[in-house]
Amino acid sequence: MKKTKELGFATRAIHSGQEPDPLTGSVTVPIYATSTYVQQGIGENKGYEYSRVSNPTRARLEQNLAAIEGGVAARVFASGMAAINAIVSMLKQGDHVVCGNDLYGGTPRLFNQVMAGFGLEFSYVDTSQAENVERAVRKNTRMVYVETPTNPLMRLTDLAAISEICRRKKVAFVVDNTFMSPYFQQPLALGADLVVHSTTKFLNGHSDGLGGVVVCAKQEHADKLAFLQKAAGAILSPFECWLILRGVKTLAARMEIHDRSGRIVADFLAKHRKVKTVFYPGLADHPQHALAKRQMSGFGAMITFETGSLKNANRMLKKVRVCSLGESLGGVETLISHPATMTHAALGPKGRKAIGITDGMVRISVGIEDVDDILDDLDAALKAI
Ligand SMILES: *Cc1c(COP(=O)(O)O)cnc(C)c1O
Repeated sequence: MKKTKELGFATRAIHSGQEPDPLTGSVTVPIYATSTYVQQGIGENKGYEYSRVSNPTRARLEQNLAAIEGGVAARVFASGMAAINAIVSMLKQGDHVVCGNDLYGGTPRLFNQVMAGFGLEFSYVDTSQAENVERAVRKNTRMVYVETPTNPLMRLTDLAAISEICRRKKVAFVVDNTFMSPYFQQPLALGADLVVHSTTKFLNGHSDGLGGVVVCAKQEHADKLAFLQKAAGAILSPFECWLILRGVKTLAARMEIHDRSGRIVADFLAKHRKVKTVFYPGLADHPQHALAKRQMSGFGAMITFETGSLKNANRMLKKVRVCSLGESLGGVETLISHPATMTHAALGPKGRKAIGITDGMVRISVGIEDVDDILDDLDAALKAI
């Protein structure tokens, strides 16, 4: 498998970095459960010295994820948050970051409650309007950090437009691509410098392990992040790396079903008399539907809808049987969450109000069960309202 760039997505997902083991021919990558490596002499080794620095299972996963996201290299970390932490650890005291104002709740928590204490500065703007980003860039801005579609409001950011601003202003452009996965959205091809994923979600896809990855367009960033793996140590264990290598093999197949069922569930909710509003970029009345069609090759499985009140949300969430109430997303099972009390609790009522997250909002990550069972379950649960 040499010329990986010319192969299709599903082929790269299954074969890049996953070549048969040279020692035994094993079709799956072995789990190298080792902390250290015997050296042949002083300074003589087989490329591995200590597993915080590098590990063969991890190296194969990093090769695989770089190939499917279209980067020069990838670095994996112990969780999505550890990956985001590594990205901002490349900055220095006094540096400024322009961020989207509707990010995964844990990201502003890290930025405001940890990183700001080390002298990094963050501003939050609605990145769905590119001019807001341009206006927020200052002399000390080093990075623009966005998520698209956002969580939970499913607002889009025009990646090509922000890339152009970042190139002109000479700042790094970072995109959290967790919601779409590389199967439906390729930010590096649109000019981003770094793509981050919580692999916990669609990439691993089976809700059985945490992980994070940063995929880099430039070797310079890949080198800095490799240094941070070694210096700060938030690396992913060989077993977790293996789980993701296993999960990624079915990414293309899973995403096709997630997307197909996502569209069906969104249409169903949009027509349901108990549902007030549906936020899904695949619906023709989504304000950025045209951008969604241009920038993404599918609409995905993430849908947010308005039940009208906290009481209504709680009534329906208590009734679901096929869908499970829980944090997280992107697994084979349908997961439903309540942003105001779960993922976005840390923002507080004021913070949520400022960006439009209400107490009645419910977010669904449509799984790959039979879609009719998901629809029946939602219909029965909505009757409780
Ligand atoms: C879950 C998530 C994260 C954090 O990832 P963990 O693996 O839970 O640390 C970051 N960004 C998005 C969009 C997420 O959904």
